[in-house]
Amino acid sequence: MRLEKASDMAEDVPRPVDVNLIREMLDRKKGRMTFCLSACAGCTLCAESCFLFRNHDGDPRYMPSYKVLNSLGKLYKKKGKATRAQLEEMKDLIWRNCVLCERCYCPLGIDLPNMIAFARSILRSQGICGVNLPSPSPPGLE
Ligand code: SF4
Ligand code: SF4
Repeated sequence: MRLEKASDMAEDVPRPVDVNLIREMLDRKKGRMTFCLSACAGCTLCAESCFLFRNHDGDPRYMPSYKVLNSLGKLYKKKGKATRAQLEEMKDLIWRNCVLCERCYCPLGIDLPNMIAFARSILRSQGICGVNLPSPSPPGLE
């Protein structure tokens, strides 16, 4: 009985963030990703092509560039040194607020969906995985 309780407690302890692994993953794509992150002009044109942004009354948390800058952008700024709580915050941005439909368009050629997918793979490497929003109902069925 005691042993059972001890193992239950062990399961409740969150696993420490593997900063070295995050850094390794970031470094592998550093050149291209940091170029894209710094090239973003903040014009918000990509937001117009994101149906989730349009369906959420212009909530900036659904803006494609916001999602990228506040996930991958933060990870590069922190050189991978993020806490579990910070990674959990990013989870909602890149899973709940994005369905990876690849429709967002950037006139500068920044591949936003690819960057969001990369941020997801980094979070997955730390055992963090989110869920997408349910698909919106087709017109007429709402
Ligand atoms: S359209 Fe491109 S440059 Fe403009 S905010 Fe979006 S990602 Fe940045
Ligand atoms: S990939 Fe994500 S950010 Fe881009 S349009 Fe689709 S839901 Fe929006």
